[in-house]
Amino acid sequence: MVTIDGRLVVRLTQDLIRFQSVNPPGDEQPVAEYLARVLSDHGIEATLQPLDPGRANLLARLPGDGTGSLVFTGHLDVVPPGEQPWDHGPFSGDLVDGRIYGRGSADMKGGVAAIVTAMIALKDAGLQPVADIVLAATAGEEAGLYGAGVMAQDRSLEGARWLVVAEPTDLNVFIAEKGILWIDVTASGRTAHGSMPHLGANAISFMARLIERLDVSYPFPYDAGPLLGAPTLSVNTIQGGNKTNVVPDACRISIDMRTVPGQRHGEIVRDLQTLAREVAEEFDPDIGVRVDVVHDEPPVETPRQDALVQAAIETVSRVRGTPEVGGVAYATDAAVLCPAFDIPMVICGPGAPGMAHQPNEHVPIEQLTQAAQIYADLALNLVGSSRAAT
Ligand SMILES: [Zn+2]
Repeated sequence: MVTIDGRLVVRLTQDLIRFQSVNPPGDEQPVAEYLARVLSDHGIEATLQPLDPGRANLLARLPGDGTGSLVFTGHLDVVPPGEQPWDHGPFSGDLVDGRIYGRGSADMKGGVAAIVTAMIALKDAGLQPVADIVLAATAGEEAGLYGAGVMAQDRSLEGARWLVVAEPTDLNVFIAEKGILWIDVTASGRTAHGSMPHLGANAISFMARLIERLDVSYPFPYDAGPLLGAPTLSVNTIQGGNKTNVVPDACRISIDMRTVPGQRHGEIVRDLQTLAREVAEEFDPDIGVRVDVVHDEPPVETPRQDALVQAAIETVSRVRGTPEVGGVAYATDAAVLCPAFDIPMVICGPGAPGMAHQPNEHVPIEQLTQAAQIYADLALNLVGSSRAAT
């Protein structure tokens, strides 16, 4: 077991919150530069991966003398603080009653601070890992997993063998996440004078029927797993029509689908196209339908018997008691990094999952220290050597 500097993880969390890396636009580069300085002050090699102006990922590495790497990941951006007033300033990093307050305290600058603290503890302990221990800190997670996408494209994590995502789980071990499939459906019909609707093909009326049928037909067939429940579908925007006396010849909806492991997004899109075609044939064969995929992240799941999952459960149990093993309904950077590098993942981080994106977001400092301990011990467990714990 390595010794964690409890004051360091608290200070890092507060410092990170005080950088206002609100996405949009992101502004993650100052956060990445700050962390690079902290890491190199402790002799850990850290490199910025520049994206757009003012934006950067950060990669840091404790080199091992074997092959491959254990990757810890967290994102550097936060969502805006929202309209509701906060009891403590959203960028204050105030420490009150054992909790640090601020946007990103739980989601997820606390998790990033815990990873950095763990790496420093491992470095100071003189660990000779048998694989590299890597921090992959991403920009732009809150908008399309942007930074992770660049890491995948640039093959920045080549040789990765395991992924630990420090999103808030109250330090439970989550091993599955739903996929995201955002789809636009555009209907084109035929316009006519509003007094002669029989001459037109009303795109809005068609869309109303399609929405009704979607509610009945979805979810398309899937295998229910124990961790994630059912896939969901929600029609969340609709546009169409210009004037009360004109039959609309266009209508568009956007659909947010959250999928579960085993569902293939390509099949869902095909099923949706078939359904839309059927409804159009019944309604008016002159209606044209286009289905566009706007955003596509696959569901991710690591088998419970995987060595990474077992090591995570074991380590958390030792540090703070038996964790719950579950799944999350949202996507993390794992949705990009797991398929790109073909690696298993666990999500385990400080703070309550329900805190994310809420006013008065906070993280208990007890969990910050425990998280750092868990990450360091997990690294020892997976890639430590006999010389490690001296
Ligand atoms: Zn997050």
